[in-house]
Amino acid sequence: MNEKKLSDKEKSLFGKELNPSNILPQKLTMGSKIKFRCHPGVRCFTACCGGIKIVLTPYDILELTKRLDMPAHEFLHKFTEPTYLEKTDMPGVQLKLRQEDNKCPFVTPEGCTVYSDRPTACRYYPVGMADFHEGGTRDADGNESASEEEKFFFIVKEEHCKGFEEDKVWTIEEWRADQGVDVRDEMNMEWLRLVMRRKSFGHQASLSDQAKRMFFMASTDLASFRRFIFESSFLDTYEIDEETTEKIRTDDVELMHFSFVYLAATLFGAQVLKIREEKVQAKMKEMEARQDESVLSSIKEYEELKTEREKQKTEKK
Ligand code: SF4
Ligand code: SF4
Repeated sequence: MNEKKLSDKEKSLFGKELNPSNILPQKLTMGSKIKFRCHPGVRCFTACCGGIKIVLTPYDILELTKRLDMPAHEFLHKFTEPTYLEKTDMPGVQLKLRQEDNKCPFVTPEGCTVYSDRPTACRYYPVGMADFHEGGTRDADGNESASEEEKFFFIVKEEHCKGFEEDKVWTIEEWRADQGVDVRDEMNMEWLRLVMRRKSFGHQASLSDQAKRMFFMASTDLASFRRFIFESSFLDTYEIDEETTEKIRTDDVELMHFSFVYLAATLFGAQVLKIREEKVQAKMKEMEARQDESVLSSIKEYEELKTEREKQKTEKK
């Protein structure tokens, strides 16, 4: 295994809430090898599907609701509970464990009933990823970027997990491809950046309740977000080309990516959406009118003061 030691800060990650003492203190790369296999024959089969916190990303929710053929609001109500993301004030959801056995609602003795659509966090286990791009890196054009060097991997080795006693050897790259993690990373990346950006700002920067509610709605219920786009004054305010408009009307994944762009603009003021020229003009007129009003009211105040002075002078004479 590779090689560099993990610092305490670097042990933070997104996904399952982990006990730091179970994290092996080595930084791994894509080429590092691990000996591990999980299959229904292991003694501990499904032992890792209980007593855990599994935070859901927007793409996780999208895939699970499709799989269960259930509207997001019903899914959220039935299978999730609210949480805060990455120790920030950003609201999200996690899977609600069954009351009777503290296990995931989708686990049975035969295994995961939603396996091919299981959440990102389940796919990562037991290989965690740390990504230290927290919204702070920008290239020469001001675009955010994350270099590969900012990412590394680590192993979570829990006492009950017998997969490490199996003989199969993989590189991290092979393991991730097998688990479908790469696709999930691509789908989650922009959303995770929003969360990490919030985290890097700390509590000094305040976020309005309205902004938090919008983040929650867009991150958990795309049907509501779509209604917001098409049934509010949104399209009258922002300049969205026809092709994009059509895509987000019909394609959930396109809508999800669009929601990340919108949230970056709303939460962090990213200059990614163009406001319509007539709206800008109307806003400027409003500001000018306000300026005119304040100038007129200053003049009025001055005139009143002058009249008052002159009156006092006349009275003294
Ligand atoms: S979704 Fe599936 S893999 Fe993930 S914890 Fe639940 S049962 Fe286990
Ligand atoms: S505890 Fe480890 S080996 Fe056992 S089911 Fe979970 S991942 Fe597989």
